[in-house]
Amino acid sequence: MSKTLFQKIADREITGDIVYEDDLVIAFRDIRPAAPMHALIVPRKPIPRINEAAADDQAVLGHLLLKAAHVARQLGLDKDGYRLVINNGAYAGETVPHLHVHILGGRAMSWPPG
Ligand code: AMP
Repeated sequence: MSKTLFQKIADREITGDIVYEDDLVIAFRDIRPAAPMHALIVPRKPIPRINEAAADDQAVLGHLLLKAAHVARQLGLDKDGYRLVINNGAYAGETVPHLHVHILGGRAMSWPPG
């Protein structure tokens, strides 16, 4: 199976502005930031989207969220707050079919999203 875009960033085949990585996840700055601070955190395992995650992904999904909060703190977003977003499928605006959590901060955000 061919690598996803985010696997290529993790494997250094495509340049990414990496801010955190460990055995299970990698985080890098979004190439088209939607906020003053915008990073993505991605499991190394190429789960296409949260809808396709399985019971045996439970540990990696928990790790993904805990490390999303870690990266947000590392980027200095925790004092003023930040938003975590997972887009699943066409209506949500998903464009890269490799599960990722957006970490957005640095400005106030409205709710609900458009
Ligand atoms: P989504 O629309 O939820 O699938 O999010 C995909 C995100 O990946 C978008 O915010 C893109 O700007 C971002 N993106 C696409 N290509 C790259 C890249 N080469 N490096 C970093 N972020 C990227």
